[in-house]
Amino acid sequence: MMTRPDAQPTASHFINGAYVEDAAGEVIECVYPATGEVVARVHAATPQIVERALAAAAAAQKDWAAMTGTERGRVLRRAAEIMRARNRELSELETLDTGKPLQETLVADATSAADALEWFGGLAGSLRGEHVQLGRDWAYTIREPLGVCVGIGAWNYPTQIAAWKGAPALACGNTMVFKPSETTPLCALKVAEILTEAGAPPGVYNVVQGMGAVGAALVGDARVAKVSLTGSVPTGRKVYAAAADARRHVTMELGGKSPLIVFDDADLDAAVGGAINGNFYSSGQVCSNGTRVFVAPDIKERFLDRLVERLSGVVMGDPLDEAVNFGPMVSEDQMKIVGGYIARGIEEGARLVTGGGRVNRPGYFLQPTVFADVTDGMTIAREEIFGPVMSVLDFETEDEVVARANATPFGLSAGVFTADLTRGHRVARAFEAGSCWINAYNLTPVEVPFGGSKLSGVGRENGLAAIEHFSQLKTVYVGMGGVDAPY
Ligand code: NDP
Repeated sequence: MMTRPDAQPTASHFINGAYVEDAAGEVIECVYPATGEVVARVHAATPQIVERALAAAAAAQKDWAAMTGTERGRVLRRAAEIMRARNRELSELETLDTGKPLQETLVADATSAADALEWFGGLAGSLRGEHVQLGRDWAYTIREPLGVCVGIGAWNYPTQIAAWKGAPALACGNTMVFKPSETTPLCALKVAEILTEAGAPPGVYNVVQGMGAVGAALVGDARVAKVSLTGSVPTGRKVYAAAADARRHVTMELGGKSPLIVFDDADLDAAVGGAINGNFYSSGQVCSNGTRVFVAPDIKERFLDRLVERLSGVVMGDPLDEAVNFGPMVSEDQMKIVGGYIARGIEEGARLVTGGGRVNRPGYFLQPTVFADVTDGMTIAREEIFGPVMSVLDFETEDEVVARANATPFGLSAGVFTADLTRGHRVARAFEAGSCWINAYNLTPVEVPFGGSKLSGVGRENGLAAIEHFSQLKTVYVGMGGVDAPY
């Protein structure tokens, strides 16, 4: 039995630079998915807590924006350093919050959050408008913050999502109220605590707990200028509609059903590795996963054999044990949903190559599951499963497979494995998706934009693109002489 760190936070919310409690809010139990035990309890925000958080963010915004970008950036970079220094503790908390193996969280969560804080911190001092000469007259643009931003997170990457939204928002001079998923309430509080320790003034970054109703209350508040959501397509639709009503800016990072095409000239081991990362990392609970794997007929059986062989390297157990490389589903509900999809795959005639069931141990573990001979119409090929279920489909020609890859209402990600340089670029160009990979999969460094097209999203996170989504330009036209008027 591993010794388990204490996960109980100081209080449920973080507002105006300090932990805040209001026990009147509904209790949210944080369950360790590897055992089903409750490891922490927080309270959902009451209307008073929501009000306090929004008021704090609104009060802090002008002074935060009045600091120079370099000063704001220094706070973010200091926060990145603290986060790296505390990586193990934060990773353990992420593991308790989500059930993801510590082996993963040590390298993918607080580290990615620190990257975002460092990168946007470095950028903050260089944000600027432009000068445009117009003959005798001229104009310039001023890059201004939007104001109070609301961030709403999903449960799969609670630290990363809190920082991917917070870092660019704060770099641009906005303040934020962040609501984590009720399933994973713990990690965002640490982001707030660390930003404060790094020198962020009170109110600049606040966290409130709660279910959808708290999210909806934040989105509907008149002080809010922008909403950035990571979540499912149905929630995205509701939040987008609510935000549109008041003309708020939005970023929507939503679900997907992404294709991964493996041509017969691909490096087989690299393609199998890409398919493993794109289906089984975080036990498949990744929005950009390439869950429809189209494999060329000549290599299909070799691909499947190698995949099954490599999956024998899966080590399940307590995710706090660093030797474990495959964790449970985040919750019992999610396990049931994914289990339902596996049953559907079998019913609809897909060939179960490996996995297919629950694992006989405590917690919400499902086996990594691979289906072959999947056809486009099957439920498992159409709907986002958000679990460790890979569908392998056959194809004949490049044109056909690209058309089928794009025949989905989603458009988050897509990947292609091939040794043919021109084909790789041609296929990437043809994909209807926001984030594409050639001979790689699921790598999302903060330096490059990430986000979806079609139903998968609006706007982009990360890269310079995120700045455009957390700031707006004011144009100032300067007349240098008299004014011509018709009468
Ligand atoms: P949900 O859509 O269920 O929830 C997302 C967040 O929105 C939660 O914090 C939720 O609160 C909140 N919420 C729910 N209803 C409302 C509302 N009416 N107004 C405001 N906020 C609301 O997603 P999950 O948490 O189940 O996450 C899984 C989904 O997220 C998958 O579809 C996945 O593809 C997507 N995702 C997308 C990513 C991307 O970058 N594109 C990355 C990661 C995940 P609560 O749950 O507490 O009730």
